Amino acid sequence: MTHASWQEIQRADSAAIWHPYAPATGGPAVYPVVRASGVRLRLADGRELIDGMSSWWCAIHGYNHPVLNRAAIAQLQQMSHVMFGGLTHEPAAQLANLLVELTPAPLDRVFFSDSGSVSVEVAMKMAIQYWYSAGKPQKQKLLSLRNGYHGDTFGAMSLCDPVTGMHHLFGAALSQQLFAPAPGCAFDAPCEDIDLAAMKQLLSQHCTELAAVIVEPVVQGAGGMRFYSPQYLVKLRALCDEFDVLLIFDEIATGFGRTGKLFALEHAAVVPDILCLGKALTGGYMTLAATLCNDRISSGISSGEAGAFMHGPTFMANPLACATALASIRLLLSQPWQRVVQRLNKELSAGLAPARALSRVADVRTLGAIGVIELHEPVDMRVVQPMFVERGVWVRPFGRLVYVMPPYVMNSADVAALTAAMVDVVAQL
Ligand SMILES: *Cc1c(COP(=O)(O)O)cnc(C)c1O
Repeated sequence: MTHASWQEIQRADSAAIWHPYAPATGGPAVYPVVRASGVRLRLADGRELIDGMSSWWCAIHGYNHPVLNRAAIAQLQQMSHVMFGGLTHEPAAQLANLLVELTPAPLDRVFFSDSGSVSVEVAMKMAIQYWYSAGKPQKQKLLSLRNGYHGDTFGAMSLCDPVTGMHHLFGAALSQQLFAPAPGCAFDAPCEDIDLAAMKQLLSQHCTELAAVIVEPVVQGAGGMRFYSPQYLVKLRALCDEFDVLLIFDEIATGFGRTGKLFALEHAAVVPDILCLGKALTGGYMTLAATLCNDRISSGISSGEAGAFMHGPTFMANPLACATALASIRLLLSQPWQRVVQRLNKELSAGLAPARALSRVADVRTLGAIGVIELHEPVDMRVVQPMFVERGVWVRPFGRLVYVMPPYVMNSADVAALTAAMVDVVAQL
């Protein structure tokens, strides 16, 4: 197959495309990719980069995996899509049952949607519609954590950190939610009642108007790559029960093994009322998300005034995405993935350790297959992005964070090359 040249792709791109979190024109350079295989991205000029990002947490098995390719092709030859109103199909039915089996009881009902942000919108609507059905229509607000990230649509955005989430830009168009401080207790530290004092205060003051608390369990991702104590979740569950407020976990980033457990909630053995999954669900092949809930929510909504849950995306439960998700999850479970993630953790920790000695480094931390160098000052992407590409790695920092979450298939030599490049770039800044 012949490809357009690097310049042709870049020219066509800059003529018409608007990239994420970027100005329409004149932003930092974008790099044309022509092929991705295993852990390597091949650029249009033939250079290959070791991928440290898994395309934003998704490509856990790497790219172009024969098992996932086969599943997608087989499904394509059956049907790529049918509407989900009034119809169903085997890939969705099997995937929903597998998700119920893998997540803790009593999460037993699955609502599919197209992206993580929409699965958060669905979770919010479930919580609000549940309370409406239960005769408490005044419970419509949500409480989330500072430094949180839950997506870019309006509902999801209203739950993101009010400062880094750019709330001032959208002003009154955003729902006004409540925010508790980010958990202060470190991942391996105990969590005391005092760590949830502000959370408890907010719950007791606002419980009559609160539908749910939403948090990213254990790892706050795009809002700061912060890891916190699983015990926080145990105490939070107890507080939500005490004040009769639902609990939503957003595992869109942490799900499917990234933190060393299949789901981050397993670190705490705490079960939410509603759970959001996305990102790695299809192994990075297609966009798909799921919102799971317990019978209290699903029965409550279904027996309420509307008699149905009022949501239904056009591409709900897309068969190609469901079939690929099934293949991806089965592939993950067929392997000793816990040991793989443990190995990656050791190698990331060892590889990033030398960064601790650098004066511009504030912290180095790892959890599961996540490695983070936190700097004192934000990086300049125009300077730092070419430095990574020159060193043959794909790392995409944001703000003060230079971080990676590599595909699980990355071998030890590639992890060493990736972490060495990160330390070198940070040292050269
Ligand atoms: C990425 C992410 C989302 C949003 O998912 P999209 O698929 O980008 O809409 C929501 N919550 C968390 C924790 C995420 O990491």
